[in-house]
Amino acid sequence: MGRILFWLVVGLLCWLAIRISLGSSRKNGAGNKATKTDDELRNISMSQCAYCGIHFPRSEGVTSEDGRVFCGQPHCDAAHRPHAS
Ligand SMILES: [Zn+2]
Repeated sequence: MGRILFWLVVGLLCWLAIRISLGSSRKNGAGNKATKTDDELRNISMSQCAYCGIHFPRSEGVTSEDGRVFCGQPHCDAAHRPHAS
């Protein structure tokens, strides 16, 4: 009984592999919707905070007057403040 289940799983995996390879080669045709979503995801440009180095979506960042990008206003302020030490 366990052997039948095993071959069922193997068959299902083969079917999935065929479906995935067919889907990726058909990107220019019916898969337009999915491709658009991928492009939209790629269009979210990531920036790195000039203060702490964290990566974040550009739209959520703060750009200072000298063109540097920060993850938030506190780090923008901290970078422009002279160091206490
Ligand atoms: Zn930061």
